[in-house]
Amino acid sequence: MSTINLPTFVDVSAAAERIKGYANRTPVIISRTVNEELDAEVFFKCESFQRMGAFKFRGAFNALSKFDDRKRRAGVVAFSSGNHAQAIALSAKLLGMPATIVMPHDAPASKVAATKGYGGNVVIYDRYKEDRELIGRDLAEKHGLTLIPPYDHPDVIAGQGTAAKELFEEVGALDALFVPLGGGGLLSGSALSTRALSPGCKLYGVEPEAGNDGQQSFRSGAIVHIDTPETIADGAQTQHLGSYTFPVIRRDVDDVLTATDKQLVECMAFAASRMKLVIEPTGCLGFAAARQMKPQLHGKRVGILLSGGNVDIKRFCSLLAAL
Ligand SMILES: *Cc1c(COP(=O)(O)O)cnc(C)c1O
Repeated sequence: MSTINLPTFVDVSAAAERIKGYANRTPVIISRTVNEELDAEVFFKCESFQRMGAFKFRGAFNALSKFDDRKRRAGVVAFSSGNHAQAIALSAKLLGMPATIVMPHDAPASKVAATKGYGGNVVIYDRYKEDRELIGRDLAEKHGLTLIPPYDHPDVIAGQGTAAKELFEEVGALDALFVPLGGGGLLSGSALSTRALSPGCKLYGVEPEAGNDGQQSFRSGAIVHIDTPETIADGAQTQHLGSYTFPVIRRDVDDVLTATDKQLVECMAFAASRMKLVIEPTGCLGFAAARQMKPQLHGKRVGILLSGGNVDIKRFCSLLAAL
């Protein structure tokens, strides 16, 4: 068995230097209503205001900016229909390299358009007949492209960790931090920053209840695979944690919690009406879990990472209308 080198906080700090001037330093927002509701001091780190609308720009840009000249000339390939696709396409454009994004034939037209708008070369595959990993690897081999996965990569993890790093630098140590969890890039990166900058802080990853593979993996000690879960949290419809993300999560995270789709929509409605924030369903996972933990948070300093705001506005309206 080969051993892997897990990323550390040194890598997060290096990533912070690389993304400086390209990524937004996103705002931290407080809401007196939330503080009163939870009887706590709550700080929201708003990655919905990151470039392309989610934290994924951080990891993508960090990974691509480490390419040598040969890799830059050939370009990057990614397979994603979500925020990772846009993050890779935009980062590649800013760094002047070609990007190929492999997307399923039934990807929302708005996402395809957004990716093309950032200059990405979109390759469509049939979700039911073709294997996207094979297509990605084939393209990588034929054209010398470098494949960057959405979460299981040390440079992606280090980049994602810069959001929590900024939060601790801005507000100081916290008692608890709530972070959305899909494949674990954001959570493992946040863990590196938390253990370095606020070691006593309780760190919670939060998944959709319908797809709690991360919770099962965390509690059992081995990576659990599940079928694609049915949830409105499309950024967390992952089937398993990764070989880099899982060991960091297992070592540095205090627990993995879950939230229901209904709780996510309630948080979306609250954020919109009381805080004037448009947050996508996945982005509300941490907020939803914190609201369930009110008794434990009494009098505490609490961070909530709002991971993204990319939701089609008509879908946003219909989710809220169905409450
Ligand atoms: C990708 C994504 C997540 C999950 O991140 P992982 O690194 O896969 O755990 C959470 N929220 C949003 C908005 C995302 O785009």
